[in-house]
Amino acid sequence: MELLSKQATTAGPAELFTGSVWFDVVARGEGDSRLRVNTVRFAPCARTAWHSHSLGQMLQVTEGVGVVATREKVIVMRPGDTVHTPPGEEHWHGAVHDRFMTHLAMWEDDDATWGDHVTDTEYEQATRA
Ligand code: MN
Repeated sequence: MELLSKQATTAGPAELFTGSVWFDVVARGEGDSRLRVNTVRFAPCARTAWHSHSLGQMLQVTEGVGVVATREKVIVMRPGDTVHTPPGEEHWHGAVHDRFMTHLAMWEDDDATWGDHVTDTEYEQATRA
């Protein structure tokens, strides 16, 4: 076994996120493993752009309060909550307007399919619900 050296915390790029988002790579499988685990920290109001994962994604909140939204539904998530988005389902995730939010993101495909940024109107509709 080995203790893995920690990689530098990375800012979420502005093309894919709105607001201040930082992530740490927890695990990235090698060889046959497709395991991907990141810790992602969102400042209040910060969120991903619309996107989907070809093999789905699991999110588990470890701190704060956040939301996951699809075109049809919004889930408020708190520490200990786990949310699954199925393969190909368009969604976004982020913090509520007055709390930070940290989640673990777990998925297996290399890259998400990214769409438009979540507008302030979309964000307010989802977080007001
Ligand atoms: Mn996602």
